[in-house]
Amino acid sequence: MKIAMIGAGYVGLVSGACFADFGHTVCCVDNDPAKIEALEQGRIPIFEPGLNTLVADNVRQNRLTFTTDLTSAVAAADTVFIAVGTPSRRGDGFADLSYVYAAARDIAAALTGYTVVVTKSTVPVGTGDEVERIIREARPDADFAVVSNPEFLREGAAIGDFKRPDRIVIGADDARAANVMNEVYRPLYLNQAPILVTGRRTAELTKYAANAFLATKITFINEIADLCEQVGANVQEVARGIGLDNRIGSKFLHAGPGYGGSCFPKDTLALVKTAQDCGTPIRLVEAVVAVNDQRKRAMARKIVTACGGSVRGKTIALLGLTFKPNTDDMRDAPSLSIVAGLQDAGARIRAHDPEGMEGAKHLMPDIAYADDPYSCAEGADALVIVTEWNAFRALDWALLADSMAVRVVVDLRNVYRGEDVARHGFHYVGIGVPTPE
Ligand code: NAD
Repeated sequence: MKIAMIGAGYVGLVSGACFADFGHTVCCVDNDPAKIEALEQGRIPIFEPGLNTLVADNVRQNRLTFTTDLTSAVAAADTVFIAVGTPSRRGDGFADLSYVYAAARDIAAALTGYTVVVTKSTVPVGTGDEVERIIREARPDADFAVVSNPEFLREGAAIGDFKRPDRIVIGADDARAANVMNEVYRPLYLNQAPILVTGRRTAELTKYAANAFLATKITFINEIADLCEQVGANVQEVARGIGLDNRIGSKFLHAGPGYGGSCFPKDTLALVKTAQDCGTPIRLVEAVVAVNDQRKRAMARKIVTACGGSVRGKTIALLGLTFKPNTDDMRDAPSLSIVAGLQDAGARIRAHDPEGMEGAKHLMPDIAYADDPYSCAEGADALVIVTEWNAFRALDWALLADSMAVRVVVDLRNVYRGEDVARHGFHYVGIGVPTPE
Protein backbone atom coordinates (compact mmCIF):
# COMPACT_ATOMS: atom_id res chain seq x y z
CA MET A 1 0.00 0.00 0.00
CA LYS A 2 1.17 3.50 -0.73
CA ILE A 3 0.12 5.92 1.95
CA ALA A 4 0.32 9.71 2.12
CA MET A 5 0.05 11.10 5.65
CA ILE A 6 -0.93 14.77 5.63
CA GLY A 7 0.34 16.40 8.83
CA ALA A 8 3.49 15.09 10.51
CA GLY A 9 2.64 16.01 14.10
CA TYR A 10 2.10 13.80 17.15
CA VAL A 11 -0.48 11.65 15.36
CA GLY A 12 0.71 11.87 11.74
CA LEU A 13 4.35 11.11 12.44
CA VAL A 14 3.63 8.20 14.79
CA SER A 15 0.94 6.74 12.49
CA GLY A 16 3.13 7.22 9.42
CA ALA A 17 6.14 5.57 11.05
CA CYS A 18 4.02 2.67 12.35
CA PHE A 19 2.35 2.09 8.96
CA ALA A 20 5.83 2.06 7.40
CA ASP A 21 6.92 -0.41 10.04
CA PHE A 22 3.97 -2.64 9.01
CA GLY A 23 5.53 -2.72 5.53
CA HIS A 24 3.55 0.00 3.74
CA THR A 25 5.31 2.76 1.82
CA VAL A 26 4.56 6.01 3.57
CA CYS A 27 5.19 9.62 2.65
CA CYS A 28 4.60 12.09 5.49
CA VAL A 29 3.63 15.55 4.27
CA ASP A 30 3.76 18.72 6.33
CA ASN A 31 3.42 22.32 5.26
CA ASP A 32 5.89 23.37 7.95
CA PRO A 33 9.21 23.35 6.06
CA ALA A 34 11.25 23.46 9.31
CA LYS A 35 9.56 20.25 10.49
CA ILE A 36 10.23 18.44 7.21
CA GLU A 37 13.80 19.69 7.08
CA ALA A 38 14.40 18.40 10.62
CA LEU A 39 12.90 15.00 9.75
CA GLU A 40 14.98 14.74 6.59
CA GLN A 41 18.06 15.38 8.68
CA GLY A 42 17.06 12.63 11.08
CA ARG A 43 15.85 14.93 13.86
CA ILE A 44 12.47 14.19 15.43
CA PRO A 45 10.59 17.43 16.14
CA ILE A 46 8.63 15.98 19.09
CA PHE A 47 9.49 13.85 22.12
CA GLU A 48 7.80 10.46 21.97
CA PRO A 49 9.51 7.38 23.44
CA GLY A 50 10.80 5.03 20.73
CA LEU A 51 9.95 7.30 17.83
CA ASN A 52 13.54 8.18 16.98
CA THR A 53 14.52 4.59 16.32
CA LEU A 54 11.26 3.67 14.57
CA VAL A 55 11.59 6.60 12.15
CA ALA A 56 15.30 5.99 11.52
CA ASP A 57 14.76 2.26 10.84
CA ASN A 58 12.00 2.85 8.34
CA VAL A 59 13.77 5.72 6.60
CA ARG A 60 16.78 3.45 6.19
CA GLN A 61 14.60 0.77 4.61
CA ASN A 62 13.14 3.32 2.18
CA ARG A 63 9.60 2.84 3.44
CA LEU A 64 9.29 6.26 5.08
CA THR A 65 9.92 9.62 3.41
CA PHE A 66 9.09 13.25 4.19
CA THR A 67 8.08 16.11 1.97
CA THR A 68 6.36 19.47 1.81
CA ASP A 69 5.09 18.56 -1.65
CA LEU A 70 1.56 17.34 -1.01
CA THR A 71 0.75 17.01 -4.70
CA SER A 72 3.33 14.38 -5.54
CA ALA A 73 2.70 12.43 -2.32
CA VAL A 74 -1.07 12.30 -2.91
CA ALA A 75 -0.75 11.50 -6.61
CA ALA A 76 1.33 8.42 -5.76
CA ALA A 77 -0.90 7.21 -2.89
CA ASP A 78 -3.67 4.62 -2.67
CA THR A 79 -4.70 6.00 0.70
CA VAL A 80 -4.37 9.57 1.95
CA PHE A 81 -4.69 10.20 5.69
CA ILE A 82 -5.55 13.65 6.98
CA ALA A 83 -3.82 14.06 10.38
CA VAL A 84 -3.73 17.84 10.69
CA GLY A 85 -4.69 19.71 13.85
CA THR A 86 -8.29 20.46 14.85
CA PRO A 87 -7.82 22.91 17.73
CA SER A 88 -10.63 24.78 19.47
CA ARG A 89 -11.81 27.72 17.42
CA ARG A 90 -11.08 30.96 19.20
CA GLY A 91 -14.22 32.49 20.63
CA ASP A 92 -16.79 29.71 20.41
CA GLY A 93 -14.98 26.44 21.20
CA PHE A 94 -16.13 24.61 18.05
CA ALA A 95 -13.44 22.51 16.39
CA ASP A 96 -11.47 24.65 13.95
CA LEU A 97 -11.71 22.67 10.74
CA SER A 98 -9.85 25.12 8.55
CA TYR A 99 -6.72 22.90 8.42
CA VAL A 100 -8.78 19.84 7.50
CA TYR A 101 -10.65 21.66 4.75
CA ALA A 102 -7.48 23.27 3.39
CA ALA A 103 -5.89 19.81 3.24
CA ALA A 104 -9.01 18.44 1.50
CA ARG A 105 -8.77 21.14 -1.19
CA ASP A 106 -5.08 20.41 -1.76
CA ILE A 107 -5.74 16.68 -1.87
CA ALA A 108 -8.58 17.14 -4.39
CA ALA A 109 -6.30 18.91 -6.82
CA ALA A 110 -3.73 16.12 -6.63
CA LEU A 111 -5.86 12.93 -6.81
CA THR A 112 -5.03 10.34 -9.47
CA GLY A 113 -6.67 6.91 -9.72
CA TYR A 114 -8.95 5.43 -7.04
CA THR A 115 -7.93 6.93 -3.71
CA VAL A 116 -9.34 6.53 -0.22
CA VAL A 117 -9.15 9.78 1.74
CA VAL A 118 -9.18 9.09 5.47
CA THR A 119 -9.77 11.62 8.24
CA LYS A 120 -7.59 10.55 11.15
CA SER A 121 -7.87 13.96 12.77
CA THR A 122 -10.57 14.19 15.43
CA VAL A 123 -13.44 15.87 13.60
CA PRO A 124 -17.06 16.61 14.48
CA VAL A 125 -19.88 14.55 13.03
CA GLY A 126 -20.52 15.49 9.44
CA THR A 127 -16.98 16.63 8.65
CA GLY A 128 -16.49 13.63 6.37
CA ASP A 129 -19.55 14.74 4.39
CA GLU A 130 -18.02 18.20 3.97
CA VAL A 131 -14.60 16.79 3.01
CA GLU A 132 -16.34 14.67 0.38
CA ARG A 133 -18.28 17.69 -0.91
CA ILE A 134 -15.11 19.82 -1.12
CA ILE A 135 -13.27 17.17 -3.12
CA ARG A 136 -16.25 16.37 -5.35
CA GLU A 137 -16.81 20.06 -6.14
CA ALA A 138 -13.15 20.62 -7.02
CA ARG A 139 -12.77 17.34 -8.92
CA PRO A 140 -16.08 16.01 -10.26
CA ASP A 141 -14.01 13.50 -12.27
CA ALA A 142 -12.08 12.02 -9.33
CA ASP A 143 -12.50 8.39 -8.22
CA PHE A 144 -12.35 8.52 -4.42
CA ALA A 145 -14.06 7.70 -1.14
CA VAL A 146 -13.91 9.52 2.19
CA VAL A 147 -13.52 7.38 5.30
CA SER A 148 -13.30 8.22 9.00
CA ASN A 149 -10.62 6.45 11.03
CA PRO A 150 -10.25 8.26 14.34
CA GLU A 151 -7.03 7.78 16.24
CA PHE A 152 -7.00 6.67 19.88
CA LEU A 153 -3.25 6.68 20.62
CA ARG A 154 -1.98 8.37 23.77
CA GLU A 155 1.05 10.61 23.70
CA GLY A 156 3.85 9.08 25.72
CA ALA A 157 2.73 5.56 24.79
CA ALA A 158 1.84 6.29 21.19
CA ILE A 159 3.77 3.60 19.35
CA GLY A 160 2.53 0.80 21.60
CA ASP A 161 -1.02 2.12 21.33
CA PHE A 162 -0.83 2.30 17.55
CA LYS A 163 0.67 -1.15 17.13
CA ARG A 164 -1.47 -2.85 19.76
CA PRO A 165 -4.69 -0.87 19.76
CA ASP A 166 -7.69 -1.79 21.90
CA ARG A 167 -9.70 -1.36 18.71
CA ILE A 168 -9.63 0.22 15.29
CA VAL A 169 -12.70 2.14 14.22
CA ILE A 170 -13.35 2.55 10.51
CA GLY A 171 -16.27 4.64 9.39
CA ALA A 172 -16.86 3.77 5.76
CA ASP A 173 -20.10 4.16 3.93
CA ASP A 174 -19.00 2.00 0.99
CA ALA A 175 -17.59 -1.51 0.81
CA ARG A 176 -14.75 -0.79 -1.63
CA ALA A 177 -13.26 1.80 0.73
CA ALA A 178 -13.75 -0.50 3.73
CA ASN A 179 -11.77 -3.19 1.89
CA VAL A 180 -8.90 -0.79 1.27
CA MET A 181 -8.88 0.11 4.96
CA ASN A 182 -8.81 -3.57 5.85
CA GLU A 183 -5.68 -3.90 3.72
CA VAL A 184 -4.11 -0.92 5.48
CA TYR A 185 -4.66 -2.54 8.88
CA ARG A 186 -4.14 -6.17 7.80
CA PRO A 187 -0.74 -6.34 9.55
CA LEU A 188 -2.60 -5.89 12.83
CA TYR A 189 -4.74 -8.99 12.28
CA LEU A 190 -1.92 -10.97 13.86
CA ASN A 191 -2.47 -9.04 17.08
CA GLN A 192 -6.19 -9.75 16.76
CA ALA A 193 -7.00 -6.08 17.14
CA PRO A 194 -10.78 -5.71 16.94
CA ILE A 195 -11.75 -3.75 13.83
CA LEU A 196 -15.13 -2.08 13.99
CA VAL A 197 -16.54 -1.01 10.66
CA THR A 198 -19.29 1.54 11.15
CA GLY A 199 -20.98 4.34 9.27
CA ARG A 200 -18.81 7.42 8.82
CA ARG A 201 -20.79 9.59 11.19
CA THR A 202 -20.78 6.90 13.85
CA ALA A 203 -17.00 6.65 13.69
CA GLU A 204 -16.64 10.42 14.00
CA LEU A 205 -18.87 10.50 17.06
CA THR A 206 -17.22 7.44 18.64
CA LYS A 207 -13.97 9.36 19.08
CA TYR A 208 -15.66 12.26 20.88
CA ALA A 209 -17.76 9.91 23.00
CA ALA A 210 -14.61 8.06 24.08
CA ASN A 211 -12.73 11.20 25.05
CA ALA A 212 -15.74 12.73 26.79
CA PHE A 213 -16.25 9.53 28.79
CA LEU A 214 -12.62 9.44 29.90
CA ALA A 215 -12.70 13.12 30.81
CA THR A 216 -15.85 12.46 32.82
CA LYS A 217 -14.18 9.62 34.70
CA ILE A 218 -11.22 11.83 35.62
CA THR A 219 -13.48 14.67 36.67
CA PHE A 220 -15.61 12.33 38.75
CA ILE A 221 -12.68 11.08 40.80
CA ASN A 222 -11.36 14.65 41.12
CA GLU A 223 -14.63 15.75 42.71
CA ILE A 224 -14.63 12.68 44.96
CA ALA A 225 -11.07 13.70 45.95
CA ASP A 226 -12.32 17.14 47.01
CA LEU A 227 -14.97 15.49 49.13
CA CYS A 228 -12.38 13.13 50.61
CA GLU A 229 -10.41 16.15 51.80
CA GLN A 230 -13.47 17.52 53.56
CA VAL A 231 -14.47 14.28 55.26
CA GLY A 232 -11.05 12.84 56.05
CA ALA A 233 -11.22 9.97 53.53
CA ASN A 234 -8.52 8.78 51.13
CA VAL A 235 -9.32 9.06 47.41
CA GLN A 236 -6.68 6.53 46.40
CA GLU A 237 -8.38 3.90 48.51
CA VAL A 238 -11.81 4.95 47.24
CA ALA A 239 -10.49 4.68 43.66
CA ARG A 240 -9.16 1.21 44.33
CA GLY A 241 -12.37 0.24 46.06
CA ILE A 242 -14.51 1.21 43.11
CA GLY A 243 -11.98 0.38 40.39
CA LEU A 244 -11.87 -3.30 41.33
CA ASP A 245 -15.48 -3.47 40.20
CA ASN A 246 -15.16 -4.62 36.58
CA ARG A 247 -18.08 -2.48 35.55
CA ILE A 248 -16.05 0.58 36.63
CA GLY A 249 -12.43 -0.45 35.97
CA SER A 250 -9.37 0.97 37.68
CA LYS A 251 -7.99 3.13 34.87
CA PHE A 252 -8.50 6.88 34.77
CA LEU A 253 -9.30 7.02 38.45
CA HIS A 254 -6.23 8.98 39.52
CA ALA A 255 -7.18 12.24 41.16
CA GLY A 256 -5.07 15.17 40.03
CA PRO A 257 -5.00 18.80 38.96
CA GLY A 258 -7.59 18.37 36.19
CA TYR A 259 -7.20 16.98 32.70
CA GLY A 260 -5.26 18.91 30.09
CA GLY A 261 -3.42 18.20 26.88
CA SER A 262 -4.11 18.53 23.22
CA CYS A 263 -7.27 16.38 23.14
CA PHE A 264 -9.59 16.22 26.16
CA PRO A 265 -10.12 19.97 26.65
CA LYS A 266 -10.83 20.72 23.00
CA ASP A 267 -12.74 17.52 22.28
CA THR A 268 -15.09 17.80 25.26
CA LEU A 269 -15.80 21.39 24.31
CA ALA A 270 -16.38 20.51 20.65
CA LEU A 271 -18.80 17.72 21.66
CA VAL A 272 -20.67 20.13 23.92
CA LYS A 273 -21.00 22.61 21.05
CA THR A 274 -22.09 19.98 18.52
CA ALA A 275 -24.72 18.64 20.91
CA GLN A 276 -26.05 22.12 21.69
CA ASP A 277 -26.24 22.87 17.97
CA CYS A 278 -28.24 19.70 17.41
CA GLY A 279 -30.69 20.64 20.15
CA THR A 280 -29.61 17.71 22.33
CA PRO A 281 -27.27 19.26 24.89
CA ILE A 282 -25.10 16.78 26.80
CA ARG A 283 -25.36 18.38 30.22
CA LEU A 284 -23.10 15.87 31.87
CA VAL A 285 -20.18 16.81 29.62
CA GLU A 286 -21.02 20.51 29.97
CA ALA A 287 -20.56 20.08 33.73
CA VAL A 288 -17.32 18.17 33.22
CA VAL A 289 -15.90 21.01 31.11
CA ALA A 290 -16.88 23.65 33.66
CA VAL A 291 -15.65 21.66 36.67
CA ASN A 292 -12.31 20.93 35.02
CA ASP A 293 -11.75 24.56 34.01
CA GLN A 294 -12.35 25.74 37.56
CA ARG A 295 -10.16 23.01 38.97
CA LYS A 296 -6.97 24.16 37.28
CA ARG A 297 -7.22 27.60 38.90
CA ALA A 298 -8.28 26.00 42.18
CA MET A 299 -4.94 24.16 42.21
CA ALA A 300 -3.14 27.52 42.48
CA ARG A 301 -5.34 28.39 45.48
CA LYS A 302 -4.53 25.01 47.01
CA ILE A 303 -0.82 25.80 46.76
CA VAL A 304 -1.35 29.25 48.28
CA THR A 305 -3.23 27.67 51.19
CA ALA A 306 -0.44 25.10 51.69
CA CYS A 307 1.98 28.05 51.88
CA GLY A 308 0.06 29.52 54.79
CA GLY A 309 -2.34 31.76 52.84
CA SER A 310 0.08 33.91 50.84
CA VAL A 311 2.74 33.35 48.21
CA ARG A 312 3.55 37.02 47.62
CA GLY A 313 7.30 37.36 47.13
CA LYS A 314 7.78 33.62 47.63
CA THR A 315 9.54 31.26 45.25
CA ILE A 316 7.49 28.25 44.22
CA ALA A 317 9.34 25.38 42.57
CA LEU A 318 7.31 23.37 40.05
CA LEU A 319 8.31 19.88 38.98
CA GLY A 320 6.71 18.98 35.66
CA LEU A 321 5.12 21.29 33.14
CA THR A 322 3.80 19.00 30.40
CA PHE A 323 0.21 17.76 30.76
CA LYS A 324 1.49 14.25 31.41
CA PRO A 325 4.83 12.43 31.52
CA ASN A 326 6.73 11.15 28.47
CA THR A 327 5.69 13.92 26.15
CA ASP A 328 6.92 17.42 25.43
CA ASP A 329 3.37 18.55 24.61
CA MET A 330 2.43 21.72 26.48
CA ARG A 331 -0.97 22.25 24.87
CA ASP A 332 -3.57 23.08 27.55
CA ALA A 333 -1.31 21.74 30.30
CA PRO A 334 -2.68 22.39 33.82
CA SER A 335 0.72 23.96 34.63
CA LEU A 336 -0.24 26.97 32.49
CA SER A 337 -3.24 27.85 34.69
CA ILE A 338 -1.39 26.99 37.88
CA VAL A 339 1.53 29.27 36.99
CA ALA A 340 -0.83 32.09 36.00
CA GLY A 341 -2.76 31.72 39.27
CA LEU A 342 0.42 31.72 41.37
CA GLN A 343 1.85 34.70 39.52
CA ASP A 344 -1.41 36.59 40.04
CA ALA A 345 -0.96 35.89 43.75
CA GLY A 346 2.53 37.42 43.66
CA ALA A 347 4.73 34.30 43.52
CA ARG A 348 7.99 33.85 41.65
CA ILE A 349 8.06 30.58 39.74
CA ARG A 350 10.99 28.30 39.05
CA ALA A 351 10.28 25.14 37.08
CA HIS A 352 11.87 22.00 35.77
CA ASP A 353 10.55 19.50 33.24
CA PRO A 354 12.57 16.70 31.62
CA GLU A 355 11.25 17.36 28.10
CA GLY A 356 8.79 20.24 28.17
CA MET A 357 10.95 23.27 28.91
CA GLU A 358 11.62 24.26 25.29
CA GLY A 359 7.92 24.41 24.54
CA ALA A 360 7.14 25.98 27.91
CA LYS A 361 9.59 28.82 27.37
CA HIS A 362 7.48 30.10 24.46
CA LEU A 363 4.30 30.00 26.53
CA MET A 364 5.78 31.14 29.86
CA PRO A 365 8.82 33.29 29.09
CA ASP A 366 8.60 35.06 32.45
CA ILE A 367 9.40 32.15 34.78
CA ALA A 368 12.81 30.73 35.68
CA TYR A 369 13.85 27.31 34.42
CA ALA A 370 16.13 24.89 36.24
CA ASP A 371 18.17 22.00 34.85
CA ASP A 372 17.14 19.43 37.45
CA PRO A 373 14.71 18.96 40.36
CA TYR A 374 17.27 19.87 43.01
CA SER A 375 18.42 23.18 41.54
CA CYS A 376 14.74 23.92 40.95
CA ALA A 377 13.93 23.43 44.64
CA GLU A 378 16.98 25.20 46.07
CA GLY A 379 15.92 28.04 48.36
CA ALA A 380 12.25 27.60 47.39
CA ASP A 381 9.32 28.22 49.71
CA ALA A 382 7.36 25.26 48.36
CA LEU A 383 7.83 22.37 45.97
CA VAL A 384 4.91 21.38 43.75
CA ILE A 385 4.76 18.14 41.77
CA VAL A 386 2.63 18.96 38.75
CA THR A 387 3.49 16.08 36.40
CA GLU A 388 4.42 12.58 37.54
CA TRP A 389 7.56 12.05 35.48
CA ASN A 390 9.59 8.99 36.58
CA ALA A 391 12.45 11.34 37.43
CA PHE A 392 10.30 12.78 40.26
CA ARG A 393 9.26 9.47 41.79
CA ALA A 394 12.28 8.90 43.99
CA LEU A 395 13.36 12.35 45.14
CA ASP A 396 15.98 12.64 47.88
CA TRP A 397 13.88 14.29 50.58
CA ALA A 398 16.78 14.68 52.99
CA LEU A 399 18.66 16.70 50.38
CA LEU A 400 15.59 18.78 49.58
CA ALA A 401 14.90 19.41 53.26
CA ASP A 402 18.37 20.92 53.60
CA SER A 403 18.23 23.06 50.49
CA MET A 404 14.71 24.50 50.55
CA ALA A 405 13.90 27.71 52.43
CA VAL A 406 10.57 26.32 53.66
CA ARG A 407 9.60 22.66 53.76
CA VAL A 408 6.27 22.59 51.95
CA VAL A 409 5.35 19.97 49.33
CA VAL A 410 2.19 20.00 47.26
CA ASP A 411 1.90 16.70 45.40
CA LEU A 412 -0.79 17.23 42.75
CA ARG A 413 -0.35 13.64 41.47
CA ASN A 414 -0.21 11.76 44.78
CA VAL A 415 3.16 10.33 43.79
CA TYR A 416 4.27 10.05 47.42
CA ARG A 417 2.85 8.78 50.66
CA GLY A 418 2.43 11.81 52.86
CA GLU A 419 4.05 10.19 55.92
CA ASP A 420 7.23 9.37 53.97
CA VAL A 421 7.72 13.01 53.05
CA ALA A 422 6.51 14.42 56.37
CA ARG A 423 9.19 12.34 58.12
CA HIS A 424 11.75 14.76 56.69
CA GLY A 425 10.03 17.71 58.29
CA PHE A 426 7.85 18.67 55.34
CA HIS A 427 4.30 19.91 55.41
CA TYR A 428 2.84 17.55 52.77
CA VAL A 429 -0.40 18.19 50.90
CA GLY A 430 -1.73 15.73 48.31
CA ILE A 431 -5.00 15.45 46.40
CA GLY A 432 -7.87 13.88 48.30
CA VAL A 433 -5.56 12.23 50.84
CA PRO A 434 -5.13 13.05 54.51
CA THR A 435 -2.42 15.59 55.35
CA PRO A 436 -0.02 14.09 57.90
CA GLU A 437 0.10 15.99 61.21
P1 NAD B 1 -0.09 18.50 15.61
O1 NAD B 1 -0.36 19.95 15.71
O2 NAD B 1 1.03 17.89 16.38
O3 NAD B 1 0.17 18.12 14.07
C1 NAD B 1 -0.53 18.64 12.99
C2 NAD B 1 0.45 18.84 11.84
O4 NAD B 1 -0.28 19.14 10.66
C3 NAD B 1 1.41 20.02 12.06
O5 NAD B 1 2.73 19.57 11.92
C4 NAD B 1 1.03 21.01 10.96
O6 NAD B 1 2.14 21.73 10.48
C5 NAD B 1 0.46 20.07 9.91
N1 NAD B 1 -0.45 20.67 8.93
C6 NAD B 1 -1.49 21.51 9.16
N2 NAD B 1 -2.11 21.80 7.99
C7 NAD B 1 -1.46 21.12 7.01
C8 NAD B 1 -1.64 21.01 5.60
N3 NAD B 1 -2.63 21.64 4.97
N4 NAD B 1 -0.79 20.24 4.92
C9 NAD B 1 0.21 19.59 5.54
N5 NAD B 1 0.43 19.66 6.88
C10 NAD B 1 -0.42 20.41 7.60
O7 NAD B 1 -1.47 17.77 15.94
P2 NAD B 1 -1.68 16.29 16.54
O8 NAD B 1 -1.53 16.31 18.01
O9 NAD B 1 -0.90 15.33 15.73
O10 NAD B 1 -3.23 16.09 16.24
C11 NAD B 1 -3.72 15.87 14.93
C12 NAD B 1 -5.15 15.40 15.02
O11 NAD B 1 -5.20 14.13 15.67
C13 NAD B 1 -6.07 16.31 15.82
O12 NAD B 1 -7.34 16.31 15.25
C14 NAD B 1 -6.11 15.65 17.18
O13 NAD B 1 -7.30 15.93 17.88
C15 NAD B 1 -6.08 14.19 16.79
N6 NAD B 1 -5.54 13.31 17.83
C16 NAD B 1 -4.46 13.70 18.56
C17 NAD B 1 -3.95 12.86 19.53
C18 NAD B 1 -2.75 13.26 20.35
O14 NAD B 1 -2.49 12.60 21.35
N7 NAD B 1 -2.03 14.31 19.98
C19 NAD B 1 -4.55 11.60 19.75
C20 NAD B 1 -5.63 11.24 18.97
C21 NAD B 1 -6.13 12.10 18.02
